[in-house]
Amino acid sequence: MKKYDVIVIGGGVVGTAILRSLAAYNAKVLLLEKSSDVATGASRANSGIVHAGYDAETGTKKAYFNVKGAAMYPALTRELRVPYRMVGSLVAAKEGGLPAIKALYERGVANGVKVEIIERARIEALEPNISPEIRYALYAPEAGVVSPYKLTIAQADHAVQNGAEIRLEEKVVSIKKTEDGYLVVTEKAQYVASYLINAAGAGAVEINALLGESTPEMKHAVGDYYILDSKAAGVVNTVVFPLPDEKGKGILVAPTADGNVILGPTSRVVPHDEAEVNAVTREGLALVREGVGKLIPKVDLRSVIRVYAGTRTAVGGDFIIEESCKFKNYFMLLGICSPGLTSAPAIGEYVAAEAAKSLALTKKEKMLPLPDRFHLTKATDDEIKDKVASDPAFGRIVCRCEKVTEGEILAAIHSPLPAHTVDAVKRRVRAGMGRCQGGFCRPRVMEILSRELNIPLSEVRLGEKGSEIAPYEVKDGYGKI
Ligand SMILES: Cc1cc2nc3c(=O)[nH]c(=O)nc-3n(C[C@H](O)[C@H](O)[C@H](O)COP(=O)(O)OP(=O)(O)OC[C@H]3O[C@@H](n4cnc5c(N)ncnc54)[C@H](O)[C@@H]3O)c2cc1C
Repeated sequence: MKKYDVIVIGGGVVGTAILRSLAAYNAKVLLLEKSSDVATGASRANSGIVHAGYDAETGTKKAYFNVKGAAMYPALTRELRVPYRMVGSLVAAKEGGLPAIKALYERGVANGVKVEIIERARIEALEPNISPEIRYALYAPEAGVVSPYKLTIAQADHAVQNGAEIRLEEKVVSIKKTEDGYLVVTEKAQYVASYLINAAGAGAVEINALLGESTPEMKHAVGDYYILDSKAAGVVNTVVFPLPDEKGKGILVAPTADGNVILGPTSRVVPHDEAEVNAVTREGLALVREGVGKLIPKVDLRSVIRVYAGTRTAVGGDFIIEESCKFKNYFMLLGICSPGLTSAPAIGEYVAAEAAKSLALTKKEKMLPLPDRFHLTKATDDEIKDKVASDPAFGRIVCRCEKVTEGEILAAIHSPLPAHTVDAVKRRVRAGMGRCQGGFCRPRVMEILSRELNIPLSEVRLGEKGSEIAPYEVKDGYGKI
């Protein structure tokens, strides 16, 4: 049985942030994730906004980690080479909305956030396509947009690069308190850890139950989204929110860090057993269209290339980030809803430091950096020439929409946390994320995965087990594309 100093359960943006921070210590650390990849829960399907920090109630953990986390983003995303842009955000209000904007402004100031109230002329200068009914806005110039799944993957890669281990497709099914730690049993193996961290998102209640720890009532709310093709970029420049209501921050229109436009989310309450279904509904999408029409009526829905849904998990009004009173060295992260993505880097540092304190871990002198990756769309002509001369795979375009080369796909398959499904490749290099949504490149990505993983084409999966794309032979020549 393998023994670890710390085991983290859950490979979302929070679990991988903790793992990466733990990898900075001299310690044996492991992350267990039940899915086929990291970033398949709430950390895959969200708005990707790095919130400035005016929304959370002053004095809460949400406010503290939001503001601290947002400040870490510029350096963190540079270091991990994750798409991030500080585009700023507007909370837009009609005539009569000024008192609500003022209340948000005051909270922002109390939380230490750079905010200002602006009127029509400045709003229009920032957002020429905004609804003519909008009169006032709260402007937060330091809000940003980030690719949430790329950040999660990069954190995981960086942790592995620095000695941490990640086991995918290992659902935790049993936990026992031992004399000096925890016995953690997955569907495949057993591990022992001195310190155990529950960062299982919507699954955190089940993890607590396995140990006999109680969880306050959890609430789950699905958010439906549209994604527009990158040709729609420019219809909006900042993150544009309506005034928040009792359901949350409302339906926004925003540029994404990768150059698309995002519309959503709704907030549809679902029972716990539907928290991981993540399916859009017709009614949900209708609400998104209605909300968007009130903010940026010029959005052209003919540019939609994808719809998706993600589910938030909340316990009361604040995050629960604390060691269990009942079980020493068992740390819980519960109800990490929005602004959990923004907060994750700061949460990661804090939780890793708590574990290090308990186990008296020492810090490594330095961490190895993530190696630089070549991306055709970001390279100059000379860089492309040199790269193709040294490896012709970087001259073979596989995804025409997003201009992704075979070399980039190979790098993803052989990265510190290897991509072994079509969706895992897509999340890392964007093959299949463009206008045709993989219509042209998917068979070629499948062929590359089959070759590199040395598995028959019939075993190449879209994502989770049971999602084999071509499991049956339908005509002669099967297996050759
Ligand atoms: C619609 C929506 C919009 C949002 N927008 C924003 C935003 O714009 N900005 C922002 O800051 N935040 C936003 N958030 C919040 C943010 O996405 C979450 O706070 C964050 O992703 C939570 O990360 P996590 O790691 O806690 O959870 P998750 O990403 O859900 O990760 C938990 C992981 O645990 C794994 N797991 C569960 N049970 C087990 C088990 N038994 N064994 C092993 N593994 C297990 C799951 O498979 C999953 O991968 C939004 C959330 C949603 C849903």
